[in-house]
Amino acid sequence: MNILAKLKELESVSRKLDPTPEERKSWREAVSDYSDVFLDNIESIKAYIISEDRGRAIYDTTIGEPKPIKELLDAIAFNVDRPGLNPASGGHLAYIPGGGLFPSALGDYLAAVFNRYAGMFFGSPGAVRMENQLLNWLCQQMGYPETATGNLSSGGSIANMTAICTARDTKNLKSADFHRVVIYTTAQVHHCVHKAINMVGLREAVKRIVPMDEQFRMNVLTLRDQIDADKKAGLLPFMVIGSAGTTDVGAVDPLNDIADICSEHNLWFHVDAAYGGFFIMIEETKDLFKGIERSDSLVIDPHKGLFLPYGTGAVLVRQGQKLFESQHMMASYLQDAYYDVEEVSPADLSPELTKHFRGLRLWLPLQLYGVAPFIAALSEKIWLTRYFYEEIQKIEGFEVGAYPQLSVMTYRFVPKSGDANAFNARLVEEVRNDGRVFLSSTMINGVFYIRLAVLSFRTHLSTIQTCLQVLKEKSEALSQVNN
Ligand SMILES: *Cc1c(COP(=O)(O)O)cnc(C)c1O
Repeated sequence: MNILAKLKELESVSRKLDPTPEERKSWREAVSDYSDVFLDNIESIKAYIISEDRGRAIYDTTIGEPKPIKELLDAIAFNVDRPGLNPASGGHLAYIPGGGLFPSALGDYLAAVFNRYAGMFFGSPGAVRMENQLLNWLCQQMGYPETATGNLSSGGSIANMTAICTARDTKNLKSADFHRVVIYTTAQVHHCVHKAINMVGLREAVKRIVPMDEQFRMNVLTLRDQIDADKKAGLLPFMVIGSAGTTDVGAVDPLNDIADICSEHNLWFHVDAAYGGFFIMIEETKDLFKGIERSDSLVIDPHKGLFLPYGTGAVLVRQGQKLFESQHMMASYLQDAYYDVEEVSPADLSPELTKHFRGLRLWLPLQLYGVAPFIAALSEKIWLTRYFYEEIQKIEGFEVGAYPQLSVMTYRFVPKSGDANAFNARLVEEVRNDGRVFLSSTMINGVFYIRLAVLSFRTHLSTIQTCLQVLKEKSEALSQVNN
């Protein structure tokens, strides 16, 4: 067979990768109908669904032969969208809840159809400008100066890694010194920070776990003493990592005091605001963030505080040039891409080259709604948490942890007899089995606490009332068994 005949034959099959207008329409409608049924019923779909099979039958839909969309959506519905946690539910009150704004889904759809190359200005100047516009807006919200820039990442973990890498490069740490380098955090810092420290090669660094006050905020007096002592001992104090909203209890470290100490000692100040950062935008909580604008870098997660679907975090660096110097690299095959560059590209500010055009999923909801509903929703989350804090104490047997600084708090049931930790572990399990709301727990100094984390845009007063009701029912039932 000659080449032309061969190509004709291959093309007749490979063209199937581009659907006909009818196929496009029927697939799109099937997907759209399926998601509409979900969204129309979201208030009554459980926050957690226990299933024996836990999606195992997804393996039965084997990869190889083409299958009709209906069959595939059925497989997704049964195996993927049913068992386990339903993060789109307002009843998701565990860990740090996610969101899933509908316009973000449309943004992702457009991003996938047009497949703009958002990594490089040369490839898609408009996409890069859109992401830069969003990053400038984020920098402004956080009080950063015009020198700041950042990058939209897949999430907070990669964003923290990028920031710590930038700190390492800016401070010009040498590997021979890594074992003398000191990093200061509290025990409440997110575990991804420790992972990030390892990933940027600082596994050997000395990690000082600075004590906290009774509200789980870094004790800055001890921090100062520890830095002095470390310097005297010939170590190299390098960076302080503060948290603006810890995952466990929502504590915000005294950022302004930490900024003072960092500037005194010329240390890099990084703030992990992945969960809490957007609470700077509302009156009730903005004062807690004083000093964040003095940090060298920070991390904030739109897939938490701006209610986006999973897959969007951000790293911001006050001296944007430092992020560029850490991440930019040239390659011969990119020589044309730097022709006539007007704006810095994501690829120069992150470990990623080719990347998801994640700006569109953030830009579209912000533009369609404007910022007011976001502000109201954030404020609502704060007041719902405060409401829960009051109301849970009215249910017999419950005691609360510290007053919530943001929208996370801890509480537990104190049984009249028996092991309190075991009782609360059973209580969380009962709530999960019930499924109307989903809660998670944590250990604080050996004490088992149940958490409330309010951050879903779909969590409203009725959700919190349901949560209180479930806790009342289940704690009463367990107490009876106990007696
Ligand atoms: C969620 C969270 C992270 C990790 O972010 P991901 O987006 O899950 O990777 C880091 N720090 C804090 C405080 C968080 O709440």
